[in-house]
Amino acid sequence: MNNIFSICSRLIILNKDKLNFNFNLHTSGILCNRPEMKKMRQRLINQKINKCIICNKIFPLCLLDGAHLKPRSIISISERKNLDNLEFMCKCCHFLYDKGYISINKGYLEVSNDIIDYNLFDIDKESKLESKLESKLKIMYIYNDSNKKYFDYHYHNIFRQKK
Ligand SMILES: [Zn+2]
Repeated sequence: MNNIFSICSRLIILNKDKLNFNFNLHTSGILCNRPEMKKMRQRLINQKINKCIICNKIFPLCLLDGAHLKPRSIISISERKNLDNLEFMCKCCHFLYDKGYISINKGYLEVSNDIIDYNLFDIDKESKLESKLESKLKIMYIYNDSNKKYFDYHYHNIFRQKK
């Protein structure tokens, strides 16, 4: 099975030593060199389930990133403290999201043509038919009025849309 979880599992095995090293750094807080991120991550841990919002898998905290829906580098300082722009994503989904291979459009997960053939998110054929568009894969219930502007920014500016 070539889903996101099995890919993550293989990455963990391949990088076991490196991962243990990173985990130790992260739990001690040293890895969070951006001042507000340590606090924001703690708020995420306190308020949200340790589940990736993209693939919906429960992960240990060492495999979950605090992912900015709109990139941290371009948001205002006040937005950096807004938890609406931060969600848990597993390492794989976070990478795909940051690089624009996946995005959320009007509450649907969309996958770029570059990776559409890999069925990374265990989407069944019925869901594909229901969504009518091959690239719109599943409803993202996390999408709401508070985080819409951040997801929309990502979709229009970072997502690798169809050429
Ligand atoms: Zn994930």
